[in-house]
Amino acid sequence: MAHCPGRGESRAERGTGLVGRAARAGGTGSPGPHLPARAFVNRAAVVMPAPSAGRISDVRATTVAVPLEAPLRHANGVHPGYFVRTLVEVETDEGLVGLGEVGGGGNSAAQAVEALRPTLLGEDPYALERLRWKCANPVQALYVPLEQMFAAIEFACLDIQGQVAGRPVSDLIGGRLRARVPFAAYLFYRHVAAGAGGERDAETMVAHAGDLVARYGFRTLKLKGGVHPPDHDVEVVTALRRAFPAARLRLDPNSVWSVEDAIRVAKRCEPIGLEYLEDPTWGLAGMARVSRNTWIPTATNTVVVHFDQVPAAVALQAVGVILVDPHFWGGILGAKKLAGVAETFNLGLGMHSGGELGVSLAAMLHFAAATPNLAFAADAHYHHLRDDVIAGGPFRYEDGAIAVPTAPGLGVRLDADKVGRYAEAFARQGAYDYHQDPRRPGWFVVFPGDSERYAAPGT
Ligand SMILES: [Mg+2]
Repeated sequence: MAHCPGRGESRAERGTGLVGRAARAGGTGSPGPHLPARAFVNRAAVVMPAPSAGRISDVRATTVAVPLEAPLRHANGVHPGYFVRTLVEVETDEGLVGLGEVGGGGNSAAQAVEALRPTLLGEDPYALERLRWKCANPVQALYVPLEQMFAAIEFACLDIQGQVAGRPVSDLIGGRLRARVPFAAYLFYRHVAAGAGGERDAETMVAHAGDLVARYGFRTLKLKGGVHPPDHDVEVVTALRRAFPAARLRLDPNSVWSVEDAIRVAKRCEPIGLEYLEDPTWGLAGMARVSRNTWIPTATNTVVVHFDQVPAAVALQAVGVILVDPHFWGGILGAKKLAGVAETFNLGLGMHSGGELGVSLAAMLHFAAATPNLAFAADAHYHHLRDDVIAGGPFRYEDGAIAVPTAPGLGVRLDADKVGRYAEAFARQGAYDYHQDPRRPGWFVVFPGDSERYAAPGT
């Protein structure tokens, strides 16, 4: 069991504070002739045994497949009817269990996480810088996305630290500035499945957005474009503006447009007022050319995803907004570091979603709560999920926002039955290729897109 601060001392001992240097030196607590009495009263140094989390004694990874309402189409492929995520449990010899979670582009990350096990056993879950360097040095991470594996470990260690301290993770990283985090409605063109989906044009997308706004109260709408030709996305986003005049709007074609198409789309979108254009093209230089040709800010979660890309992005004035993802940036503390860099250069900061379940979402909520310059509604695919693996059921949206957990640590626990059920689902359904569309056999994306490769409008 964890120790609580002050456990093992009597209330009377704590109240007096007559311990510390004087007591340890065999003194009576009587001040010397030159010092006031309170110089010998050191409450902090004293009787409190250091809170102990113990040492890491086990690391477990379980991959689950959780169903979506309908398959989600994007410029590079399709998320089929489910998301694949790997849940991580870090246990200590004090019996504490911290939770983490990581994606894998449709694949299990269990093997990669478990490969870190020998590196982690016996380590102190407070030693996060040490663990980061042991698990994910940047050269080693050229071969495997170790930052993301480490992020799951870091979430779990912070969860443990919070449980020991009796405080939510947000209190460990600066404290909550907001109790609720606003999210955007994430609008995808969807294939039809089980009576849901079928969005393929302006009319169906506006209806879908209306449904999400009514159910969850979203005030920001993000269209995942790039499936159809660029002008099709302009038509859809223009219809969304007409239907939701007060909403904040974003468009994200996942980097597929040419620079020229991106500039043309930006010009067409200027009158309807996007809050940003996300990854309209590939590469820092391309993004810089787009940025120079429109007042609409550009945002990215693809070309600024490592700290070493930030100086070039700033020098080129390539992007206005960085969409941080605590997984990509090596954990909550890495994301906080990026937030500091963004603050330094006065870059906008939003938050990317990689299709999280409740454990990762909790980590994102704590980060968002304690990050002052996270000025844009966060992205989350979460409302597309039919279920979650956390106890008590999925997080609930209210007025387009989700409340930050207040229980110690991440504030979420796993529902063992659901983990078992969705682990079986993964064993049955298996991994999927993020870069394919099973309904378009033989197709694959090429940057920049062209009329041969975009899906025909209305399909
Ligand atoms: Mg994006």
